[in-house]
Amino acid sequence: MAINNVKGTHDIIADEARSFDYVENVSGQIASMFAFQPVRPPVLEHSELFIRGVGEGSDVVRKEMYTFDDKGGRSLTLRPEFTAGIIRLIIQNKLLATNELPLKFYYCGPVFRYERPQLGRYRQFNQFGVESVGHNSPYADVEVIALAYTILQSLGLENVTIKINTLGDETSRNNYRAALKDYFKDKIANMCGDCQTRYEVNPLRILDCKVPEDQEIVKHAPKMSQYISLESQKRFIKVLDALREMEIPYEVDDTLVRGLDYYSETVYEFHYVSAKGNDYGAVGGGGHYDKLVHELGGPDLPGTGFSFGVERLVSVLSDDGLLNNKQELDAYVMPIGEEAQEHALNVADELRLLGYKVDICFDNVKLANMFKRAEKKNAKLALIIGEDEIKNNKVIIKDMETKEQTSVDFDALGDTCDELFNKKECCGGKRECCEGDECECKKGE
Ligand code: AMP
Repeated sequence: MAINNVKGTHDIIADEARSFDYVENVSGQIASMFAFQPVRPPVLEHSELFIRGVGEGSDVVRKEMYTFDDKGGRSLTLRPEFTAGIIRLIIQNKLLATNELPLKFYYCGPVFRYERPQLGRYRQFNQFGVESVGHNSPYADVEVIALAYTILQSLGLENVTIKINTLGDETSRNNYRAALKDYFKDKIANMCGDCQTRYEVNPLRILDCKVPEDQEIVKHAPKMSQYISLESQKRFIKVLDALREMEIPYEVDDTLVRGLDYYSETVYEFHYVSAKGNDYGAVGGGGHYDKLVHELGGPDLPGTGFSFGVERLVSVLSDDGLLNNKQELDAYVMPIGEEAQEHALNVADELRLLGYKVDICFDNVKLANMFKRAEKKNAKLALIIGEDEIKNNKVIIKDMETKEQTSVDFDALGDTCDELFNKKECCGGKRECCEGDECECKKGE
């Protein structure tokens, strides 16, 4: 019997994989423009890192972690998120002591959560995100939000809703927690089992409950905004003012608490409903954290960051027709007969070294059939090599769009393609004309 993939995982193939590459590359390039540097923490970490970092009150740690003992008896976990791992990496490599702050990193890769699979929800999915660690300025939060917003805009997602809230400092949250406990005291027995646990470990999380009957009760709960300290309010106003100044639209949502326990002060989520009306949930979210670095054994320094769900970004982009993910070839080499196939390798090699995308047909099929394949692969040129071409050291070039056809010397193939593709740049010493000290191809001029 065939073996299928694990529930909640998915295979990302060809066109879709190109979409993932595209989203990740655009995001990485923009993060670099904001002076963030790449990091690649391991997928496997000690379970303790997430228990202490993400928090025992979070659904992620209580119910969703892929945790197991390895053969040496260590409790390990497949990362359910990146932030805790990046903070560990920063502390362990003593990066805070040896660098100007904030440290600015971006990351991308798979994360694992044992959730109920549904639209936009997987058990293995990919996140792209950033962390800016070690600076307490509210503008560090704004810079990170601006970065996320720039990425979404560059991908073509214009109508993004940014929901933003402040959780305040520790005192604000302690006061609010006490107020929530008081409010839910005589109601919690009639609420769902999850809320009963949340009531004990982190009553703020009750505000996120999705059970309709519980949501009715939550509606009338005290509002977080009434418990935010003056200091935190001032900080939040600075964030909102700066966003307005930068023309980044937002909606204050004082029920937004986020799922991970380490957040404090500013938190936010990015929402986007595709034109087809599919709501995949938040495409990203993030916030500020005060205690995480210290909690994981580092100095008392804050950080701020966000993460996008790459699957969700790809889904909304695909729904809205904003992806161009089809395979495209510059040339498809079509050798006729076995002997021509060997020549085809040389032809392809010559062009690939010049930066062209080239594929070869190795099947002895009819020419008409080869042309069909060239069309299917969106090849711009078909390069035909038959007996005559081998004899005369030539290649036939056929433009797949205009159907124009010419025969060129093998040695002139690179130059002819450059002319056809209107390539202006210098070959950079890849061809004979440029061997020696000075580039002679003059294409850069
Ligand atoms: P979080 O780390 O929970 O703040 O999640 C950040 C982003 O990851 C979310 O906004 C989603 O876009 C994405 N995400 C979270 N959980 C899942 C999941 N189970 N499947 C797919 N994407 C997810």
